[in-house]
Amino acid sequence: MHEGCTGSFGDGKAVVDKIRMMGFNTREMPMAVELTCECGKEFSMTHLETKCPHCGMVYGVTPCSTAYPERI
Ligand SMILES: [Zn+2]
Repeated sequence: MHEGCTGSFGDGKAVVDKIRMMGFNTREMPMAVELTCECGKEFSMTHLETKCPHCGMVYGVTPCSTAYPERI
């Protein structure tokens, strides 16, 4: 098994579950990423798990993908 850098972001909820399982969800992003949420508002993704302050949508990213905002 190879955890972390394999796989994709097919299911965002699975990613969030995974980083929660690994305890990464409270880890800060090396660099905050500006995201445009599905609700149309922009917010700053500061942690590997960040909730949109406007609509509550949860975004997660695995630690090895923080350099690829398009995968979030
Ligand atoms: Zn939103």
